[in-house]
Amino acid sequence: MAIERTFLMIKPDGVKRQVIGDIVDRFERRGFELKGAKLMVATREIAEAHYAEHADKPFFGELVDFITSGPVFAMVWEGESVISLARIMMGATKPSESQPGTIRGDYAVTISENVIHGSDSPASAEREISLWFAGELV
Ligand code: GDP
Ligand code: MG
Repeated sequence: MAIERTFLMIKPDGVKRQVIGDIVDRFERRGFELKGAKLMVATREIAEAHYAEHADKPFFGELVDFITSGPVFAMVWEGESVISLARIMMGATKPSESQPGTIRGDYAVTISENVIHGSDSPASAEREISLWFAGELV
């Protein structure tokens, strides 16, 4: 048993398309527990820190522009193996590889506007939860 916490974020395209309810419902139905959530507009500072691993990629500027372009819904979820299971529920990054039934496979056709972010490892989850929810969780 490994009870973990992960950081998930519905990106501005997902908030605009009003799929917060559906996405929260998928994780609740799977058996995960919501431990924190907030609708917020990310500053460039937090967006750049969040995506620091991509700072040298050609799409970095566009990525930060997009993630700060409107409200995001930031969440912390808890449960058994939630980090890897949430990644499977999200679907692959590339639209050509995201399967129907996954969040991206059901809602996204571009790599840039792909509805949801999820931590990709225990170290990322810890870093992202402290970045977005510093001292805010019960
Ligand atoms: P993720 O962990 O599945 O979200 O994927 P990555 O960590 O590799 O990339 C972070 C985010 O950057 C992705 O979710 C995409 O929105 C965006 N991204 C990744 N690759 C590209 C790309 O080649 N072009 C553009 N415009 N955006 C990209
Ligand atoms: Mg990633």
